[in-house]
Amino acid sequence: MPDVTSQLIADPVEDPATAAPRAERLADLDERVTRCIACPRLVGWREEVARVRRAAFRDQQYWGRPVPGFGPPDAAIAIVGLAPAAHGGNRTGRMFTGDRSGDVLYRALYDVGLASQPEARHLGDGLTLHRTRITAPVRCAPPANKPTPAERDTCRHWLARELGLLRPTLRVIVVLGAFGWQALMPVLRDTAWQLPRPRPKFGHNAHAELPAADGGAPLHLLGCYHVSQQNTFTGKLTPEMLRSVLDRAKELAGFR
Ligand code: SF4
Repeated sequence: MPDVTSQLIADPVEDPATAAPRAERLADLDERVTRCIACPRLVGWREEVARVRRAAFRDQQYWGRPVPGFGPPDAAIAIVGLAPAAHGGNRTGRMFTGDRSGDVLYRALYDVGLASQPEARHLGDGLTLHRTRITAPVRCAPPANKPTPAERDTCRHWLARELGLLRPTLRVIVVLGAFGWQALMPVLRDTAWQLPRPRPKFGHNAHAELPAADGGAPLHLLGCYHVSQQNTFTGKLTPEMLRSVLDRAKELAGFR
């Protein structure tokens, strides 16, 4: 068990490997995720950021806890990033909400009809997603956006259970960046799908169709450059490129 205490969580979850599989509904899973303290370094960092705060947000109460996935339980498309941003999801409590990466992502989701509004500012801003769920392999903001392999492996149980609960409707996963792509592979294998050999490689517009291991529908994997400022400010990822991947995801998922 982790040797760590949280200043924000009164009823902590210490072991995702046993807590995640016991969640029978997505809402239950989301609630459990927000109480996780399995990674001492990340618990310390997320709460330190929430305590010190960025000057522009000094008057705000930071979330400072793990960030659950966002979107309905009948999602046909999942979007998998890396981890919450220190002053984005770690501040607002919702994936990609309140930061520049989210500005780009939600604008594109709105443009292709997958989000109800083009902006994500805070919990309770009215934003909803249409048959789309946004999630990540690591649920706590890591220093320098770099989780360790041990943190990634500890957190994967949350994602595995989330994809398992979405399994009946899930048809496409859009993966933002190489970290998410690599982290996702063992999760997919352990959930419901077969991994081709050699394993599909990440790239922008990469596409792989994974046969089901449980007799259900196959899964389409689509690669997309991450919506980080590093990519969007330099033009490596343009709004048109992002919309194009999302349109393809809709097509593969059978949206009309
Ligand atoms: S990164 Fe994941 S496993 Fe680690 S403390 Fe956060 S929610 Fe728990």
